[in-house]
Amino acid sequence: MPIIKVKPGQKVKLEDIDPDDTGKYENKDEANGILARNIKQIAELQNVLYAEGKHALLIVLQAMDAGGKDGTIRKIMSGINPQGVRVTSFKQPTEEELAHDFLWRIHQAVPRRGIIGVFNRSHYEDVLVVRVHNLVPKRVWQQRYEHINNFERLLAGNGVTILKFYLHISKEEQKERFLARLEQPHKRWKFNPADLDERNLWNDYMRAFEDAFERCSTDVAPWYIVPANRKWYRNVAISETILETLTGLNLKYPKPVEGLDDLVIP
Ligand code: AMP
Ligand code: MG
Repeated sequence: MPIIKVKPGQKVKLEDIDPDDTGKYENKDEANGILARNIKQIAELQNVLYAEGKHALLIVLQAMDAGGKDGTIRKIMSGINPQGVRVTSFKQPTEEELAHDFLWRIHQAVPRRGIIGVFNRSHYEDVLVVRVHNLVPKRVWQQRYEHINNFERLLAGNGVTILKFYLHISKEEQKERFLARLEQPHKRWKFNPADLDERNLWNDYMRAFEDAFERCSTDVAPWYIVPANRKWYRNVAISETILETLTGLNLKYPKPVEGLDDLVIP
């Protein structure tokens, strides 16, 4: 199965989704050709998004460690005017962040109109790592699905279009990528031994992801599950979804002020 848009309330079994799938693409070269074209068009539409200043686009990326969040951002946002993009990476909350509700830090990072915002991890950590590690009691994280849906509806009602992508890699692929991090000097800094603890909790994470998809994929903020073992498929599939979404916004340059044709610059 290629990239899936989860329907509201749809039960997802990640086990049944092949992370090696490449959809309609046969090979990397073909996909990369389309990707380059998509990136160019996204960059052009981003320019209109900025000029018009009516909509914001929020792209949420979630995955297991080494799932490709950083690589996706690097690839797909390349070529876009840096003034029009805002990337936020969510790490372990600070003491101050923990002293507030879990959406406090998230809300501040939501892109203003005219901007494409990218979340590298997000408020979903609060029903993923937090749930898997029992960082708060169950009755607390249980309520968060509804809080998240309400929050996302608030954003959508205020001009923010939301796309959420889960980069679906296999446990085996994660191992390969960890090994690559260990072996290649320029990747070593990325290896965090603590990631192995998370790897041990793989099945718990899969359950937590599945619940998040079932409960928080909505018409205004759908979840997409992207087979992501092949980076080239991941990139082309995500770029396509972003492009379709931007196209659907029907963006228009604002009308120039009147009388420009007769204007003489002294
Ligand atoms: P990285 O993305 O590799 O820089 O790692 C960031 C770490 O922060 C990951 O282990 C996340 O699970 C963790 N993290 C992000 N958000 C939260 C949160 N709300 N609560 C606890 N840990 C979090
Ligand atoms: Mg990491």
